[in-house]
Amino acid sequence: LPDPDVAALTGDDVADLLPKPAPESDKYRRGVIGIAAGSDTFAGAAVLAAGGAVRAGAGMVRFASFEEPVRLVRARWPEAVTTVLTPGAERPLDDVGRVQAWVVGPGLGTGREAHAIVREILATDLPVLVDADGLTHVAADRSLLRRSGPTLLTPHAGELARLLDVPRERIEARRIEHARRAAAELGATVLLKGSTTLVAEEDRPVRVNSTGTPWLATGGTGDVLSGIAGALLAGGLNCYDAASCAAYLHGLAARIAAAGPDRAAGGSGPGDSGPGGEAPIAA
Ligand code: AMP
Ligand code: MG
Repeated sequence: LPDPDVAALTGDDVADLLPKPAPESDKYRRGVIGIAAGSDTFAGAAVLAAGGAVRAGAGMVRFASFEEPVRLVRARWPEAVTTVLTPGAERPLDDVGRVQAWVVGPGLGTGREAHAIVREILATDLPVLVDADGLTHVAADRSLLRRSGPTLLTPHAGELARLLDVPRERIEARRIEHARRAAAELGATVLLKGSTTLVAEEDRPVRVNSTGTPWLATGGTGDVLSGIAGALLAGGLNCYDAASCAAYLHGLAARIAAAGPDRAAGGSGPGDSGPGGEAPIAA
């Protein structure tokens, strides 16, 4: 029997949910997403997260981080407005202008300065997406999640294992159950990544997205997903819808990219079931 507490998200649902620019839109109404990502060691994650947000249609990307990621983001995404954060500042984000939602964590590092940035962002009452190194800070101090604004966590199984203090194998064996449990225990929306993506929130059915392809199993794709979901959060979707629409679009974009330009242009490129021969997208 189908589980009534599990729901698939269809392309029609996504088309209805996606924020579209109205004739009277301006960049602020379309949503300003703040992104705090990257470090001098892992600067590339910042470029990928910022790119996900730009390409998903954010009204504006405000990028705040250390020097090297800011330099790279500026070079790759000139439309982003950037701020170099002052190390050791009491309130590192004071100079970042108005932001409607935050993405924090990809490549940010696990040090003290990164911790202060994560803490300050979570202390706001804005919607916040926490990914990657941000999840490490939160796993070490779960009290960071006691906040007034909505929170979206985007772990893979290993990151969820640390958040829940449960072995990874157990999470992989019962993904739906653990995504649900994490949402309840952490008081957040949880997007659990893997070959399918689950989105769990208390009192809602767990959404399952299967638009992805195993070609996504490569470094950096999760960072792009964070940026996409962030843009949708800033655009006004709630965490549950932003997470599920982002997973859907990210997976679909990967399929189109993997199939090559022929198929993307509507031609009959190699393999209509996609290069990995994976199953068609479930309606
Ligand atoms: P991360 O674990 O943060 O690097 O993110 C990896 C991204 O790729 C997530 O969006 C995953 O859902 C996706 N992904 C990883 N492996 C697979 C797979 N075998 N099939 C489909 N999607 C995958
Ligand atoms: Mg990741």
